[in-house]
Amino acid sequence: MIIIGAWFKLPITFCAVKIGVIQLICPVGFLEASLATKSIITNLLPGVILVGVLTIIFGKSFCAWVCPARYAGSMVRQAGQNKMPGTSASINGGWLKLQRLVQRKISLSWKDGLALLAGLFIGIAIFGFPAYSIFCPVGILSRNLIELISHFRLRMDLILLTVPLALSLVFKFGWKCACPMGLVRGLLANSSKTLVPVVDQTACLGCGRCMDNCTSGVNLHENRYDSFSCSKCLNCIKDCRHGAVSLRIVGRQ
Ligand code: SF4
Ligand code: SF4
Repeated sequence: MIIIGAWFKLPITFCAVKIGVIQLICPVGFLEASLATKSIITNLLPGVILVGVLTIIFGKSFCAWVCPARYAGSMVRQAGQNKMPGTSASINGGWLKLQRLVQRKISLSWKDGLALLAGLFIGIAIFGFPAYSIFCPVGILSRNLIELISHFRLRMDLILLTVPLALSLVFKFGWKCACPMGLVRGLLANSSKTLVPVVDQTACLGCGRCMDNCTSGVNLHENRYDSFSCSKCLNCIKDCRHGAVSLRIVGRQ
């Protein structure tokens, strides 16, 4: 969609999509702009409300199915596993080793990410400058993809991807614990009662595979489904060899 948009010069990025009179906009971008200008940008309100409603219905699906940063991450992983031609295992191997080493010392989680987010928003409100837009990996990847399609070159700001990469080292579940976009979507998705992976306890053999493989750290066996963290990637359904996990369209466990 982004490639088609860039090719035909349409107003489509991962951060904003214009559909007729409504502009669907990233909630973090909207909050940043509102805090920096100390005003509510009313013409963006319908779009951001619609994004909020979609997040309540579909949870953090954007993070698992649309976000380019997630795809960039899996491409690095695939490169490390030699699944991409001409790449070596050393990139991913080295990165994982470094991550384990740092995490033995510091292992920050979702709550630390939320504290960082609160600090970021306070800073934006005080200084009146939307600083996160500069480092947002989704924005960086969007801008570079558009530049590549329209002018066959990359932008210098690609180097800023090292900031989220470095931050992801110190978090228990990687960058997603610090991603403002994911955290704001998580807060909105907290009340989501749709598209919930549920465990059939009668079919479950307790192997723990669904929990071990969940990259968001969700334990489906807990009494309360963690809709804040779950990105609805549906890997737990695929990973359970006993068919004990299924997707409930409406309603929680
Ligand atoms: S992977 Fe399936 S069988 Fe294993 S603990 Fe999860 S639900 Fe139970
Ligand atoms: S593996 Fe299951 S519980 Fe974990 S994030 Fe994906 S859908 Fe949610």
